[in-house]
Amino acid sequence: MAREKRCGVCKQLRPLAAFGRRSVSPDGRHPWCRGCVTDYRRRWTETHREVYRARQQAYRRRNRKRLRQYNREYQRRRRALIRLGKWRKVPRAIVTPRSVLRGS
Ligand SMILES: [Zn+2]
Repeated sequence: MAREKRCGVCKQLRPLAAFGRRSVSPDGRHPWCRGCVTDYRRRWTETHREVYRARQQAYRRRNRKRLRQYNREYQRRRRALIRLGKWRKVPRAIVTPRSVLRGS
């Protein structure tokens, strides 16, 4: 298995970890590196402000309950960490467990 891959946008050879996961691709990775995906998304959002806004609004409406639950948990952890003087000194993965993101 190749450990590197060439980005379809910037044409740079980068380690596989620099590409997001994509189950439908033969190698399980996105054809664009993360940096190029981020640039693309930023430009798309700038040129489609209204579409972006409407989609965000629809998403928030659809997921109101889950987002509220997530925010509540996030703030609870944040307050606890501030009390301990450890706020933002721990990796995000510990602050935000996947179970909270999934809302299960
Ligand atoms: Zn790239």
